[in-house]
Amino acid sequence: MNLIIMGAPGSGKGTTATVIREKFGLDHISTGDLFRYNIKENTPLGIEAKSYIDKGALVPDDVTIRMVEDRLKNLKSDKGFILDGFPRTIAQAEALDKILEALGSKIDAVMYVVTDDEVIIDRVTTRRVCEKCGASFNIKYMPSKVEGVCDVCGGKTIQRSDDNPETVQSRLDTYRKNTAPLIDFYAARGLIVEGNNNVSSDTCIKEIEDGLAKLGL
Ligand code: ADP
Ligand code: ZN
Repeated sequence: MNLIIMGAPGSGKGTTATVIREKFGLDHISTGDLFRYNIKENTPLGIEAKSYIDKGALVPDDVTIRMVEDRLKNLKSDKGFILDGFPRTIAQAEALDKILEALGSKIDAVMYVVTDDEVIIDRVTTRRVCEKCGASFNIKYMPSKVEGVCDVCGGKTIQRSDDNPETVQSRLDTYRKNTAPLIDFYAARGLIVEGNNNVSSDTCIKEIEDGLAKLGL
């Protein structure tokens, strides 16, 4: 089963993706995580990506598409994958169609996490992530047991450099302009499965699980 997860930045895509990935044993391909890994390792890709990410802009399509293509050709799970943070532009979606076609594969559903802007700005600016394993916490709503220490691996929790109010606003603007049109792109194919994440991630995940089941997944 091959899935895409979409939603505004900070909508709770990552949390939802983690639950669905574990349930179905899927490979989780997060472009944000791949970029952050490259930035941490100071690779040429990381150095290029950082200049865009810190502004809340998108990394150019050609670089991003090549990175995802490479991952899709080297999947770890034979059960399928969740693409998280990709595609983010129509050009990326069209490139994805071509890549999957060449691999004899296709997308089975697009999970769409719906969250209001006010909720997003509040949640993202209080978010903390583990430097080591990427686990996500929130100082207001989901604090780690010991402040600054990851519950999962004991690593240090930090604020992402793009999780400040100004950059979050540009990320939301970029999302509206470039990524929101993809909802119509996939709705036209009958692939959208919606979950509302304004109240809790449990209700959002339940709605998405029900939607996937309706598609026979
Ligand atoms: P969020 O969805 O919370 O903004 P991500 O971790 O998915 O966070 O992405 C962080 C940043 O990485 C984005 O703001 C963007 O700069 C870059 N990025 C991630 N995925 C893509 C993509 N598919 N195309 C271009 N840039 C991307
Ligand atoms: Zn950790």
